[in-house]
Amino acid sequence: MNPQATPNLGVSQCLLGEPVRYDGGHRRDAFLVDRLARHVAWVPVCPEAVLGTPREPMHLAREGARLALRGNESGGDCTGPVQGFVQARVPALADAGLDGYVFKARSPSCGLQVRVANEAEPSGGLFAAALTDALPDLPVIEEAGLVGRDTREAFLERVFAHARIRGLFAARWTPQDLVRFHTREKMLLLAHDRVGYDQLGRLVAQASARPRDEVTRGYTQRFMRVLAKPASVGQHVNVLQHLAGHFRDHLDRSRLADLHRAIDACRRDECPRPHVYAQIRALAEELDIQWVREQSILTPFPQELLTEETHD
Ligand code: SF4
Repeated sequence: MNPQATPNLGVSQCLLGEPVRYDGGHRRDAFLVDRLARHVAWVPVCPEAVLGTPREPMHLAREGARLALRGNESGGDCTGPVQGFVQARVPALADAGLDGYVFKARSPSCGLQVRVANEAEPSGGLFAAALTDALPDLPVIEEAGLVGRDTREAFLERVFAHARIRGLFAARWTPQDLVRFHTREKMLLLAHDRVGYDQLGRLVAQASARPRDEVTRGYTQRFMRVLAKPASVGQHVNVLQHLAGHFRDHLDRSRLADLHRAIDACRRDECPRPHVYAQIRALAEELDIQWVREQSILTPFPQELLTEETHD
């Protein structure tokens, strides 16, 4: 079994339906509340709650080197209290074992790409920018990014991978545990970056000779950076063919040919990739091929989260 901790997911509090917005309302996100909530532990944060509710809506303004949070009507400066909250909360969150964060788009505090008055370039909101600076490898997304299947899949894959590596290192781990972990993640890593996979392998090989903190930090950082690289269709097809190779001595020619036809259809974008991985998962179970069965790429996150349901 893969070590699997429940992901700790930071979230802009209004997305969970809590009435913390400037007008006392919320922005409940159905996918988060009705579906993802079953699989994660939320860490909700509203950086503007320090200003009270209701409050004036605000925007970001560039004032010299400073990014200010100003009221839309009054022009009043609300930067101080929100920055005070950010400075106190971000270090605590950095130590809280977060596995990812879902930010509210367009918010001057929580958005990842927010319009700034009198400036052509957008900026991160005050809180979002501070958190992503403190945790540069943390998987982050705005709620709007969860609508698209590809962006949702890429985000969830990284969040659940982060939870797995955090789960490994949170326990008393041995170099053999790390070897087993790296073996189970092999196909997922190869789908993203072969060079990165090899570099991680060298770190694993040296694990018993290096300080544990250095291995923990180094492996986690590189692991997340490999998974942050996009996985191309060609890389997935290579991985699928590699996995199919494990069935060569166990399947008759006709079933093997069926599998390779499905992989070819995936290459031509005529068969959804998760269907082919599901086919391989079922075969690995049926034939009891442990190495394949344990590859994290077969179930990188609960697959029900990929199905198309209504998303508000
Ligand atoms: S500050 Fe963030 S969490 Fe609070 S209401 Fe605005 S977007 Fe939502």
